[in-house]
Amino acid sequence: MVNNDTIIALATPSGAGAIAVLRVSGKDAITISAKLFKSIHGKKLTQQKTHTIHLGHIVDGKKELDEVLVSVFKNPQSYTGEDVVEISCHGSPYIQQEILQLFLRNGCRMADAGEFTLRAFLNGKLDLSQAEAVADLISSDNEASHKIAMQQMRGGFSSEIAKLREELLNFASLIELELDFAEEDVEFADRTQFKALVDRISFVLKRLIDSFAVGNVIKNGIPVAIVGEPNVGKSTLLNALLNEERAIVSDIAGTTRDTIEDEISIGGIGFRFIDTAGIRETKDEVESIGIKKTFEKIEQSQVTVYLFDSSNSISNLEQVTLEIEKIKNKYPQKPLLIIANKIDRLDDTQLARLQNEIEGVHLLSAKTGFGVESLTHSLLELINQGALRNNETIVTNTRHYDALLKALEEIKKVSEGIDEGLSGDLMAIDIRQALYHLGEITGQVTNDELLGNIFANFCIGK
Ligand code: GDP
Repeated sequence: MVNNDTIIALATPSGAGAIAVLRVSGKDAITISAKLFKSIHGKKLTQQKTHTIHLGHIVDGKKELDEVLVSVFKNPQSYTGEDVVEISCHGSPYIQQEILQLFLRNGCRMADAGEFTLRAFLNGKLDLSQAEAVADLISSDNEASHKIAMQQMRGGFSSEIAKLREELLNFASLIELELDFAEEDVEFADRTQFKALVDRISFVLKRLIDSFAVGNVIKNGIPVAIVGEPNVGKSTLLNALLNEERAIVSDIAGTTRDTIEDEISIGGIGFRFIDTAGIRETKDEVESIGIKKTFEKIEQSQVTVYLFDSSNSISNLEQVTLEIEKIKNKYPQKPLLIIANKIDRLDDTQLARLQNEIEGVHLLSAKTGFGVESLTHSLLELINQGALRNNETIVTNTRHYDALLKALEEIKKVSEGIDEGLSGDLMAIDIRQALYHLGEITGQVTNDELLGNIFANFCIGK
């Protein structure tokens, strides 16, 4: 896994842009760049200080490829911890490719996915969970997931885990020391203190494990199924929420037969809205397929929004009540928002009747925008944001979650061992296991396969 090659990759997205950045890292990064870069002031790149920027040209023999800015970072003061040169060139794909090819011909190798960050990890610039946060940060597309990734990149919970692991390691050594003095029957490790530490570790692990449910949902967007028969205004509502005309709005009933998925950010949380065809019984075959699909979508969603057209249902509110009951009976645990749309068409008596007969109904006019804001508030309230508000650490990574679960399992065994006065040699085995799983999170315990899996998910150039 570790090698001494000097690697290069495009750090900016491929395609045309105002500028593009190529990143070179490795022991020959500066010497190779010095050969291909001609400073306008005649400066030699090899003689420049770290963290300096130089104007000049990338030259292929006599041919000038582009005017560029070159930044020099000397090891260990760089992202990877190696010598790094960043070339900011003009953003034409042709120029990017020409420079890339030139460097490849002169001794660089194309970087693998995530190889810059892998090197940063191997050189002790980041721990493993911080490296993983880099990938999350790049893919974060809403305020909440960005916040979580930033927190993890700054060290987040891995420093807390590392500290607890350190303390556990001390006890492990004491207990193993006792084994050497088995005949004398001594106890170096104070069992009361040890038990207190184990309880503290359990507490932290449990909190982090619980945060995963919230974290995972935030990272991937909260799925919300919008249920309502054709023409009640689902697409109009989505558009109002999205603030753009993405879904097709039409006056012909049943135009929203296919499900449309759209993600929007409300209060910094990503919501994934799933448009459905409603659950009203019908003889139309296409529509009945739609009903089946609707139930599947409710099943997959975290929250259900039941939307109906109040203007044409006001004389038939029993039908609406019936459908609401149907959803409630089928999914009693799932949060359900009941929304009466098109209230702009109702008079005051009708509005009063509506509120009387449908318990907890939200009033909405997707067309005028009335009630959209209070709807977004209600949605946010339904989601447990407690952890986010309190700035608590949130686990979003499945690998961490797995390791935390395994660590907790082992810690439980250790705790029971203390209670039962288990012999030191047996206890030592459980402690070693717990240490192993805790170390997996921070990268204090790694293997090539694990690293390979993590970094393969990165994009090239990161
Ligand atoms: P969908 O089939 O449930 O997606 O319904 P659409 O969003 O396509 O809306 C059907 C029709 O109802 C369109 O002509 C909309 O302009 C209209 N509509 C939607 N919301 C409202 C509303 O709040 N008030 C009124 N008056 N018309 C609405």
